[in-house]
Amino acid sequence: MLLDAGFSALDEKQSWDISPGKYFVTRNDSSIIAFVRGKDDPADTGIRMVGAHTDSPCLKVKPNPGIDSHGYLNLGVEVYGGVLLNPWFDRDLSIAGRVTVQDKHKNIQSVLVNFDRAVATIPSLAIHLDREANTQRTVNPQKDIPPLLMLTKEKQTFEEILREQVAQEHPELEVASLLGFELSFYNTQGAAITGMADEFLASARLDNLLSCYTGIESLLSADDSVTSLMICSDHEEVGSASAEGAEGPFLRTTLERMMPNKDDYHRAIAHSLLISTDNAHGIHPNYPDKHDSNHGPLLNSGPVIKINANQRYATNSETSAYFVSLCTANDVPYQTFVTRTDMACGSTIGPITAKELGVRTLDVGVPTFAMHSIRELAGSDDAYSLAQVLQAFYSDCGSLGAISK
Ligand SMILES: [Zn+2]
Repeated sequence: MLLDAGFSALDEKQSWDISPGKYFVTRNDSSIIAFVRGKDDPADTGIRMVGAHTDSPCLKVKPNPGIDSHGYLNLGVEVYGGVLLNPWFDRDLSIAGRVTVQDKHKNIQSVLVNFDRAVATIPSLAIHLDREANTQRTVNPQKDIPPLLMLTKEKQTFEEILREQVAQEHPELEVASLLGFELSFYNTQGAAITGMADEFLASARLDNLLSCYTGIESLLSADDSVTSLMICSDHEEVGSASAEGAEGPFLRTTLERMMPNKDDYHRAIAHSLLISTDNAHGIHPNYPDKHDSNHGPLLNSGPVIKINANQRYATNSETSAYFVSLCTANDVPYQTFVTRTDMACGSTIGPITAKELGVRTLDVGVPTFAMHSIRELAGSDDAYSLAQVLQAFYSDCGSLGAISK
């Protein structure tokens, strides 16, 4: 999307000279920062920043995955993040990810692979063999979820199959040995618009690719006089503490290189605002008591402003007021969410980035059901509503809701 829109790729290993224009930079091929360096000095105008995360809870293949049992080959998996495990049973699963190989010239190279067809499943135990399944069944991630890949009569290991897949997808590579991989299982069922009046959107990874897509799409139409930025970070689902995660230095070092003068950098941060976008929990008609009765966001009623006095969300009255003013000016509905006082609250990259940069921040997101399931549900209007507000944010040439003194 960015290359098609004329953004230039920056390399962290090269020296940068950032003049007004459109750029992006990636780290580990799993986090990305895209920005429009405006014609005006960001030290005077601040930077309009939107954040989201690229990762989603899933099952990842273990390094020595093969489990031979009764003539079947299953694959051992690690649980990445807070997976809702039950919905992973009886799905048509595929495998994709990164494979690192050594070629015949001893060069180490990484390539992406995607089996791109249903190659595995996690069959449920029949109810006849577990009469208490609907009332008592729990899921043991070590024992119950290794996906079933094939019959072992073929005598092929998973590593051999993977090597064939690399050769098929990357015939130009002369692979001498396969050195490592990071592979995830995923649902082959595509996204769908559902509901009698097409009011729902069902898909995998709505948390948080919906926000990544909406943010990048909005950035493409950003005003070119002011500076705007979108960051999509890996590893949010496991706490963000990594070289490419929101708690790492990726955003700070990118901003420092955009503004090498320290005083300019600090002035720009003081003028800036970050909208952290991540999905919210809509009030569920079957479980309404899981929400505070005054704060139950509805699907298709607009983006949700997330508030938590204990700073699990970074919103405050001033950053929230600014977001409300953007919504109102653009006829976009909005809602607010606080968690029940007797329940623990989730968190996002918002407070982490606020702490790392010292930037004014707020947390918003579209309401969804089934967060962290293999298939989540959003309202079909809400991504568009969020995009309208983010586009208005990226085109705001004013003071970004700064309080006049
Ligand atoms: Zn999320």
